[in-house]
Amino acid sequence: MYDILIIGAGIIGTGIARELSKYKLKVAILEKDTDVSNETTKANSAIVHGGYDAKEESLMAKLNVLGNSLYEDLCNELSVPFKRNGSLVLAFNEDELEHLNVLYNRGIINKVPGLSIINQEKLRELEPNVDEKAIAALHCSSAGIVSPWEFAEALIDNAVENGVDLFLNTTVKNIVKTDENFDVHTDSGIFHTKYVFNCAGVHADLIHNLIAPESFKILPRKGEYFVLDKTQGKRVNQTVFQCPSKLGKGILVTPTVHGNLLVGPDAQDIDNRFDVSTATDRLEYIKFKGSHSIKDINFRENIRTFAGIRAESDRGDFIVEESSVKGFFDIAGIKSPGLSAAPAITLAAIDLLKTSGANLSLKDNFITPRKHT
Ligand SMILES: Cc1cc2nc3c(=O)[nH]c(=O)nc-3n(C[C@H](O)[C@H](O)[C@H](O)COP(=O)(O)OP(=O)(O)OC[C@H]3O[C@@H](n4cnc5c(N)ncnc54)[C@H](O)[C@@H]3O)c2cc1C
Repeated sequence: MYDILIIGAGIIGTGIARELSKYKLKVAILEKDTDVSNETTKANSAIVHGGYDAKEESLMAKLNVLGNSLYEDLCNELSVPFKRNGSLVLAFNEDELEHLNVLYNRGIINKVPGLSIINQEKLRELEPNVDEKAIAALHCSSAGIVSPWEFAEALIDNAVENGVDLFLNTTVKNIVKTDENFDVHTDSGIFHTKYVFNCAGVHADLIHNLIAPESFKILPRKGEYFVLDKTQGKRVNQTVFQCPSKLGKGILVTPTVHGNLLVGPDAQDIDNRFDVSTATDRLEYIKFKGSHSIKDINFRENIRTFAGIRAESDRGDFIVEESSVKGFFDIAGIKSPGLSAAPAITLAAIDLLKTSGANLSLKDNFITPRKHT
C-alpha cells in the first residue's frame, strides 16, 4: 500500500515526487512511457518566463512569479543548466508599443522583478541582430532559460535516491475508490494508495474522468520548432518574443542553455493528443515570422525540427485542486508557463495534501543530490 501515487512523470510529477521524498511517506510514480519527461516536458521553448503575460490575480501569474524566483537555487542544488539571460518583447508599431505598456502594467501588478520598456537605441545595444523595424521592447531581466528534461531527470534521480518507486512502461487504465483508499489499475498490475496526484499532462482530463465526474476538458494545441546548430546560437543573447496573440506568445527566437538557437512555436488546435509531427508549411511560417524579429538567421544550419502539445484547458487557468473525490488531486491544464511555475506548483501540491489531512512529517535522512562537476 502506497501513501501517495503520482500519475505522469513530466516536470510536474517528478517535481512532486522529489518534494514528497523529503517526507516519511511511501510514494510511487507511474509513467506510461519508457522514460520520464517524454511528452510536453521534453518539447517546449524551455523559457523560465518572468510572469508579465499571465492575467492579473490568476493562479498562473502567482505560480509563475514564485516558480521563477525558485529556479536559481533549485537548479544549482540539482546541477541543472539554467541561465537568467533575460527576455524582450518587440514592438514594431504604435499599436504594439501600446501593448507593451499593457504587459508592463500587468507585470507590475504580478510583481515581476526587472521589467522596463526600452527604446530602439538601448534595444540595438542589447541585441544588435534585432530587425531595424523594431521600435521598442519590453525588457524582463528576470526571465531565464533551462534544460527541462535534464531538470525532470535530476528531480526523479533524487526522488528515487530518497525511496520513491518509479514505474516506467506503466499505463493507468482505471481508478476505483475502495472505502478510504484507491485501486489504480494499470497494464502492469493494480496499485493500492491513500492519495492520488493526477499529473498526466495533455491526458489529465481522461485520468480525472476515470474516478470523478467531468470538471474540465483538455484542448490540445500543438507548437512546432526549429533547432539550429551552435553556429547560430549567438544570433541573440536574450529570448526575443513578438507581441502575443489570442493563441499564445507568438514566435520566439532564443538561445538554449546548450548554445543552440531555437525558433518557434506556432499554435494549432488539434484532436490527436499524440500528434507531434512537423509539416513544411508550418515550418515555413515559423521561419518567416522568426526572420521578422532577428536578421540573417541561417536556417540551412537547422539540425532538427520537433513539436510539443500544450495542455490548454477550458478553464483557462492552471487547475491545482482536490477533485470532488476526496484524496484525488488534479494538477492539470499546465500549459505555458507551466515549466516556469513548476517549482511553485510542487509546493502548492504539498499544501493540498496538508489541507486534505495527510500526515506529513519530514525525514531526518533526506539525501541531497550529488553535485555534478
Ligand atoms: C509548444 C510549447 C511551448 C512551451 N513553452 C514553455 C516555456 O517556454 N516555458 C514554460 O514555462 N512552459 C512552456 N510550456 C509548457 C510546459 O512545457 C508544460 O507546462 C509542462 O511541460 C507540463 O508538464 P506536465 O508534467 O504537466 O506534463 P507532461 O510533461 O506532458 O507529463 C505528463 C506525463 O504523464 C504521462 N501520462 C499520461 N497519461 C498517462 C497514463 N494513463 N498512465 C501513465 N502515465 C501517463 C505522460 O506520458 C507524460 O510523461 C510549453 C508547452 C508547449 C507545448
